[in-house]
Amino acid sequence: MNIILFGPPGAGKGTQAYFIVKKYNYFQLSTGDLLRNEIKKNTLLGKEIENIITPGEFVSDTIVNALLKQAITKPEIKNKIIFDGYPRNIIQAENLKKMLKDDNQAISKIIFLKVSRDIIKKRILGRLTCEKCNITLNEFFNSDEIINHSCGKQYLKKRKDDNPQTVITRYDNYMKKTQPILDFYFSDKGFHEIDGSQKIEVITRKIDEILDV
Ligand code: AMP
Repeated sequence: MNIILFGPPGAGKGTQAYFIVKKYNYFQLSTGDLLRNEIKKNTLLGKEIENIITPGEFVSDTIVNALLKQAITKPEIKNKIIFDGYPRNIIQAENLKKMLKDDNQAISKIIFLKVSRDIIKKRILGRLTCEKCNITLNEFFNSDEIINHSCGKQYLKKRKDDNPQTVITRYDNYMKKTQPILDFYFSDKGFHEIDGSQKIEVITRKIDEILDV
């Protein structure tokens, strides 16, 4: 059973992917990693990729698709893949379907961790880190833990590098680019939307329910 996991920055996609990998013995296949690996190999293709990725452009579908095809057909990861960073457009979504079909595989679950702009903003703006023990709490969501924090409330400080505008811009860009792909998968019987504003363990339980069937 292969899975696609979608979620804007700050939705907790990385955390949940980590749990799936550990619990179900899955492989997280990130097209960003595939491309970075190619750069490390110092090949001609790697150089070409580097020139595209560095200024933040998208690599052509031809290049990404070729690298992905090599990866998905490896027997050790077959039918145990979490796709991360792919598909990023409809052409890639169509291509993924075809490539998997040619290899007797399919996408069984498409999970979208939905989080509103407002929640993302609060997650960033409200973040407090303890100077003593390094725990991260949030003034909007953890008021009791803040009052009772064992090091003392005065050590909980905001991080200077939490720039809300950058985070919001990344969120808006992600949603704009991802919406057509969500529309593409919406009527698929494997499509599930989860409220990503819930606690980590609640989301994990929902994912377990989806994957255990
Ligand atoms: P990521 O690690 O997912 O943030 O990807 C890093 C960079 O790799 C992106 O900014 C793109 O330049 C490129 N990239 C990753 N996945 C894709 C994809 N599916 N299609 C095109 N470019 C991609």
